[in-house]
Amino acid sequence: MFSAFIDLIFPRICSACLEPLQRNEELICTHCRFDLPKTNLHLETENTLAHKFFGEVQLKHTLSYLKFVKGGKVQLLMHELKYKGNQEVGEMLGRWYGAELRESGFADAFDLIIPVPLHRKRLLIRGYNQSDCFAKGLSESLNIEWRNDILVRETETSSQVNKSRLERYQNMDKVFNVKNAELLRNKKIVVVDDTLTTGATLESCILSLQAFEIKDISILTLAMA
Ligand SMILES: [Zn+2]
Repeated sequence: MFSAFIDLIFPRICSACLEPLQRNEELICTHCRFDLPKTNLHLETENTLAHKFFGEVQLKHTLSYLKFVKGGKVQLLMHELKYKGNQEVGEMLGRWYGAELRESGFADAFDLIIPVPLHRKRLLIRGYNQSDCFAKGLSESLNIEWRNDILVRETETSSQVNKSRLERYQNMDKVFNVKNAELLRNKKIVVVDDTLTTGATLESCILSLQAFEIKDISILTLAMA
């Protein structure tokens, strides 16, 4: 009764279409849930995203959950997650994708989830790291540990968008540092980020982690441009 009253005054809306949610729905309405533009890359045998990365990066799996289209549902979801403080959206999408991966034979594909860190200044402003939210959800449904005390972002970087491939590479050089490296030993690592655009950020993370005795490394993002 009380929650119905609250719904009437503050209608809960779907984060993807902004329509009111039904009482049994959380954050994303049923219609949007089944209408999400998935990449389904985990069902492909070929690593179709590998071309985004330089030769020295050896990726086991290259995965992305959703297709980012300007003005579409995924853009709204990413906006909620990154700028509206809606951390639960990231966690829920992580749980959904984790469940899909588990069903497709990825239950043992990874040992450790590492989200791409924000620089401490940016973290202070936003209050949370959106990639942590996604990592947390994935961790819950895949039953794999996630840690944000291994990869550290040492320098703030400018936008990658209007840079050449070489400029992007130089811009991201030595951005990340690795701590607690003993935790990486012989592990199947998956680095998690919110969006895959140029791939330069992830590439820089991978190069930092590859320097240690890991078993293999994969990347996984919530969305890809
Ligand atoms: Zn919706």
